[in-house]
Amino acid sequence: MIAVDFAYRRPDTLAGAYELFSDLARRGENPFYLGGGTEIVTGARTGLFTPSSVIDVKAISDLRALAVHDGRLILGAGLSLREILAKDPWPLLSHILSRIADHSVRTQITLGGNLVGSIPYREAVLPFLLTESAVRLYGSGGDRWVPLAHVFTDGSLRLAVGELLVALSVPEAVTRLGGVACKKTRFDWVDYPLVTVAARRQPGRRIPALAVSGLTSGPFRALRVEDALLHAGPAEIPLRELLPEAPLDDRHGSSAYREFVFRNTLEDVLEQLGPNG
Ligand SMILES: Cc1cc2nc3c(=O)[nH]c(=O)nc-3n(C[C@H](O)[C@H](O)[C@H](O)COP(=O)(O)OP(=O)(O)OC[C@H]3O[C@@H](n4cnc5c(N)ncnc54)[C@H](O)[C@@H]3O)c2cc1C
Repeated sequence: MIAVDFAYRRPDTLAGAYELFSDLARRGENPFYLGGGTEIVTGARTGLFTPSSVIDVKAISDLRALAVHDGRLILGAGLSLREILAKDPWPLLSHILSRIADHSVRTQITLGGNLVGSIPYREAVLPFLLTESAVRLYGSGGDRWVPLAHVFTDGSLRLAVGELLVALSVPEAVTRLGGVACKKTRFDWVDYPLVTVAARRQPGRRIPALAVSGLTSGPFRALRVEDALLHAGPAEIPLRELLPEAPLDDRHGSSAYREFVFRNTLEDVLEQLGPNG
């Protein structure tokens, strides 16, 4: 049960959603955009979120896009993981989404909610970190596409207050390149990751592009690890010097255990992709 009353709204345009959010915020209310609601509803039940209004963004057609346009695959932030899996436009993305939660929860979780939400794993972002991805944002800065790398920093998406994540895009050719994803959990098949590594072949380079979740406080593109692997194997590289921060140390696993699992996962990934990376 949710112990607070809140208003539910479902605008069908980007401008409508943003204006509604801005109006409510100006009046001192505490609005939230609603994707799949898995985080908001759980948070509202436990008192972590106290929304006065939720603005459901799933009726906005721009957030429902799933199309190829000008050589780029566009995925709306309001698509559920299940909807993306059903269309399977990018096998590497499907592979990763198929390991987030279970079948019925994936019907709820949206691509946008996974990237914007506070749960730090954000595994859906991993394949996007491996290539020239862009995100469409709508807010005080207007309606614009920006490179993902400009707004996804230190493991999270930096949105201005009230800004909406509308869609993500990648070059369509990338979706046909080989890639693998390897998720290691502590006990169960359905669980948060101890470590997840996504890898994609890079034409002309022996080592694949690598993106990692679970190891540190947020997902990251492991460029320095990629470079080090050109000269030494996963067991030999000076990992601590190559990571953005020390591996997490929590109830799922100690720092040393996560480091051990990460090295093993790198071995698995390199083996699965074969000698040409
Ligand atoms: C059982 C279970 C298992 C899970 N396992 C994993 C896992 O293994 N790996 C993993 O990565 N995650 C996992 N999750 C986390 C899950 O991915 C998050 O709960 C989910 O990503 C939130 O998505 P949502 O669409 O439900 O977001 P919501 O709850 O609707 O929203 C979350 C936040 O994002 C904001 N938001 C949503 N959409 C937008 C948008 N388009 N623009 C701007 N802001 C927006 C909301 O305002 C809110 O602050 C799991 C969750 C559950 C319930």
